[in-house]
Amino acid sequence: MPPGASIAAAAEPLPGSAPFSPAGCTPASQIREEVAELRRRLDFLLRHDALTLLPNRLQLRQRFERAAAPGAALTLMAVDLCDFKHMRDNLGHADGDALLLQAAHRLLACLQPDALLSHHGGGEFTILLTCDAGDARQIGQALHAAFVEPFELDGLMLALSLNIGIALFPADGRTYDEVQKAAGIALAHAADGTRGGCTFCTGQMRDDTDHRMRLHGQLRNAIGRDELLLHYQPQLSVGSGRMIGMEALLRWQRTGGGMEYPGSFIPLAERSGMIIPIGEWVLNEACRQARAWQDQGHAPLTVAVNLSALQFRHGDIVATVAAALRRSGLAPAQLELELTESILLHDSVSVNRSLQALKAMGVALSIDDFGTGYSNLSYLKSLAVDKLKIDQSFVRGLGEDAGNSAIVKAIIQLGHTLQLSVIAEGVETSRQLEELAGLGCDAAQGYYFSKPLSAVQFGDLLRQQSCLNEDYRFVS
Ligand SMILES: [Mg+2]
Repeated sequence: MPPGASIAAAAEPLPGSAPFSPAGCTPASQIREEVAELRRRLDFLLRHDALTLLPNRLQLRQRFERAAAPGAALTLMAVDLCDFKHMRDNLGHADGDALLLQAAHRLLACLQPDALLSHHGGGEFTILLTCDAGDARQIGQALHAAFVEPFELDGLMLALSLNIGIALFPADGRTYDEVQKAAGIALAHAADGTRGGCTFCTGQMRDDTDHRMRLHGQLRNAIGRDELLLHYQPQLSVGSGRMIGMEALLRWQRTGGGMEYPGSFIPLAERSGMIIPIGEWVLNEACRQARAWQDQGHAPLTVAVNLSALQFRHGDIVATVAAALRRSGLAPAQLELELTESILLHDSVSVNRSLQALKAMGVALSIDDFGTGYSNLSYLKSLAVDKLKIDQSFVRGLGEDAGNSAIVKAIIQLGHTLQLSVIAEGVETSRQLEELAGLGCDAAQGYYFSKPLSAVQFGDLLRQQSCLNEDYRFVS
């Protein structure tokens, strides 16, 4: 029974009974008043957030539904305080709550009395406005402007910024649920983009979100349905033209759908945590296949496997790698793990410990897309890493763009000074290959040599690999 119902029953006398107030007890009239007060307070709590005392979701919905009459122009503005959870975790809940109250006060100060600011927990707010898109944009800009000044908390200056997603009634929906969903979609896009803007929901955003939701559901079953597969792209020594390894690249062949490439589903897998079992599958399959090619009599090649930062943070990456090597029988030296700079960004004890354990196991470590993130260069100094992989965006402009050539040269010099091997990815022309050879780059991969190949195609290539011509092109 809901709390309100039990109080309602207590407040109403039973039919036919008289108010009862024996001598020495609280008078019935006083009890009725106290119960009525309790009901008012319960009703308030039912429709307000307990911390900020702002209206909650229930009141927002009721106000929206009352206002959503034919001819009305309403705006729902979903507002999220960026990184608030992280900030509150660091401040502690008491100071975090104090900061939240200050932020709510600033939001409120930007709004006309007829606007409804509701709080939904954490750093999430929604504003109901009786206005059109033009006015909504102006109000959104005023909200951003109100957060330019930092907040002061116990002498500490703290910066908070906002993401704002906007949906309109009736353009984006005819019910509260439809408009609220559209505002949420716009907010998610705002969070993915540059901060400081107001993002209005569009049809394209809705289609993208629907597609992502469908993929999300299907991805859960991808491993069980055997829909994941690996393609392999050859890596060659720039000096000798010999194939020295291959990068395993994940593909998802959806049943009844097309081939999905990592860009379309890895972010989803990371957001949902599915990257942990998917990453484990990739490691097992890459090791199994590399060993299988060796067992067929081909010279041992290094297989490079991409790892996600989440596999370090939430998975037991050391145990996963050890199990993949044990199961496949692949020598650790034949496995290279490609790490993103984001893995190394946080100089955490656990990441460091995992890297050292992987190194001790004999596995090679390389930094993928080097130069595009924020490298914590101490990892290079401590020699936990064996190889730098120059991002293809720098390789693409080689020979044509002096800036790119300078960056590539600097990365190669940095790597060699620290006795690291350097590989360039995304090599597409003989000009780029010549430049890389001139700069002393150790290895290369890219469409110039070969696109990523299915396991069957790669097996064929292994059988033919003596057929490299003088331009380092595979002759088929
Ligand atoms: Mg890679």
